[in-house]
Amino acid sequence: MAAKDQQAPGELELVRAFVNTAELQQDEDELASGAALARWLCDHGLGSHGLRASRADLVRAIELREALRAILLAHSEGSPAPHEAWETLDQAACRGRLRLRFGPHGMAALDPNAGGVDGALGRLLAIVHSAIAEGTWLRLKVCRQATCQWGFYDHTKNQSGSWCTMGLCGNRAKARAYRSRQREASGIGVTG
Ligand SMILES: [Zn+2]
Repeated sequence: MAAKDQQAPGELELVRAFVNTAELQQDEDELASGAALARWLCDHGLGSHGLRASRADLVRAIELREALRAILLAHSEGSPAPHEAWETLDQAACRGRLRLRFGPHGMAALDPNAGGVDGALGRLLAIVHSAIAEGTWLRLKVCRQATCQWGFYDHTKNQSGSWCTMGLCGNRAKARAYRSRQREASGIGVTG
């Protein structure tokens, strides 16, 4: 399947992209330094030009990313997300000083009052808030394969997707289940 099939609608795609800055399968992390974090936030329209990120900003951004991953994993497992993950989001929202901003024509949106990286991460959390309100949030998931955990948007009708389509994780899991059924059926070890 094309990678496009995993894309989230609208701005929620930014949250997915943020989670996928770490590629666990390859042991790669795009957010390798404060400068890399600042560049990523600017490139994705979350930070303004000239944004600088300290070491502490980087640590907090990665904490937030992993808290988001824990919540998205809970989405694919159909289980409640760990309490600490929500706490991390809560603290980040506080630092971003999100406030409700009203505009013309009855528009209302959460907007960060904080500048810098805190404000940029606050923008991501405002997107999370919108997704919760719109009912798209639970469809944003990470792959259940522990070594993968790639972020994807579940477009299935009954919201039952648990595996990314990138690394063929679902096929691998199915093959494993098939082999173990074969073993059970035959009562002997089967190789492969
Ligand atoms: Zn996967």
